[in-house]
Amino acid sequence: MAMESRLEQSSVMASTVQPDMVITDGFDFPVGAPSAKGYYNAQKFGVNNHLGDDWNGVGGGNTDFGDPVYSVGKGRVTEVSQFFGGWGKVVRVAYSYQENGVEKQVESLYAHMDSVYVKKDEVLSRGQKLGTIGNAEGIYLSHLHFEIRNKIALPLGQGYSKDQTGYLDPTKFIKAHRPK
Ligand SMILES: [Zn+2]
Repeated sequence: MAMESRLEQSSVMASTVQPDMVITDGFDFPVGAPSAKGYYNAQKFGVNNHLGDDWNGVGGGNTDFGDPVYSVGKGRVTEVSQFFGGWGKVVRVAYSYQENGVEKQVESLYAHMDSVYVKKDEVLSRGQKLGTIGNAEGIYLSHLHFEIRNKIALPLGQGYSKDQTGYLDPTKFIKAHRPK
């Protein structure tokens, strides 16, 4: 096994330009990994000008408080912040992926979390627990506000806007990019 992993390592190094490049093999859902089992999307992308999905446990209310939140792919943490007001604890993760031979990047934003287990610049695997569902310090019934942007390091934003420039429908994106 040791020999095998060394060979694997060297072929990865040879085929990439940057040795630290992280490319995910696909995307899963951020709750109920990998397919959001036990959760529903209470406010879909575009509804009320919402720029993300609101994931809630099927039990309703705060039954999902403290449930795990998973990295949707293999990626690098770009931000871990605590905001006061509507955002609460926020983690952003950048993901690179290949589509039709072209490398593309998206950034996801996970918000209102109770606990956060990751640090900026940490590389996460797909399905790694990065935090838990929270309520932004009591502002909401607990849920995960989850966004996918098609650019890295856009401004934090407001969570709602008529202008969807830079934002993707997270559920549509994940469904189109499940691991093979
Ligand atoms: Zn939301």
